[in-house]
Amino acid sequence: MAKIGFIGLGNMGVPMARNLSTAGHEVYGYDVAPQARDAAAEEGLTIADSNSGAAESAEIVVLMLPNGTIADTVANEVLAVMAQGSLLIDCSTIDVATARKIHQSADEKTVMCLDAPVSGGVGGADAGSLTFMVGGAQAAFEKGAPLFDVMGSKAVHCGDGGDGQAAKICNNMLLGISMIGACEAFSLADKLGLSKSALFDVVSTSSGSCWSVNTYCPVPGVGPQSPADNDYKAGFAAALMLKDLSLSQEAAGDTSAATPLGQHATELYSAMVDAGNGGTDFSGMIRYLETQTPNAVT
Ligand code: NAD
Repeated sequence: MAKIGFIGLGNMGVPMARNLSTAGHEVYGYDVAPQARDAAAEEGLTIADSNSGAAESAEIVVLMLPNGTIADTVANEVLAVMAQGSLLIDCSTIDVATARKIHQSADEKTVMCLDAPVSGGVGGADAGSLTFMVGGAQAAFEKGAPLFDVMGSKAVHCGDGGDGQAAKICNNMLLGISMIGACEAFSLADKLGLSKSALFDVVSTSSGSCWSVNTYCPVPGVGPQSPADNDYKAGFAAALMLKDLSLSQEAAGDTSAATPLGQHATELYSAMVDAGNGGTDFSGMIRYLETQTPNAVT
């Protein structure tokens, strides 16, 4: 069992840290927000006095933070006190360039490093069934593996530093595009007088099948239970999908990759969020599209 510092005790961080603690690890958490620290303490977590206090003498430090700027700042704070040979795991979803910068900073301190963003959301964090997409050296991956086993059900070693973030944004760009496609197909079916159940039965076993239809169908009462059956309560909020799509477009710009549908998906989720739907599940795109006249959707 390891001594672990866990920084960022928000919606994802608290259940992840709690699962590590329940598994018998010695976990010291910290969050800049007093209310987050209080909520984590109520969950039974031990709270340190600062980010560096949580990291000091920890064998492994896990970050679960909102964005790359914050993750980079906090990484530098904790790297200043981490011992040689210890491991920094950044589970936040951030841009690939900053992830690679954090790997380089860790390298300079002879600290091992992994970027390990997750999919599975708050439910997966709570159930310990997250999927980790991991970038970094093999030795670091092996050291982090026991933690991934506790916090998740799958960890894919995607390659070198930054490759976990690269996998995450490519996956989520595809998810954003496919969800919009699913919403458009069900909206068109409705206009054509075709029953949504009939469309589901066809698509889910045909060439149009995809996770957005088969597992997370954006219409109520069709397919397995999904946020559509719960008035589009997130789930995976549209604002978080917009964040990931924006990261994909930043990466596409940096690498001159052509992603026209990724760009259009980003614009549509941006419009959905601007219309006040940022907290709605991202499959609520179907309702947003229904409020648009065809010419207004560009
Ligand atoms: P959150 O906003 O609930 O939690 C982030 C926490 O970080 C907050 O409590 C905040 O106070 C803390 N924080 C900010 N700056 C800090 C600092 N300088 N030092 C210490 N703590 C600081 O966010 P979340 O939903 O837990 O998501 C965390 C990360 O996981 C994000 O990168 C997000 O994109 C990613 N993610 C979230 C989900 C989801 O469903 N919520 C799913 C997959 C990935």
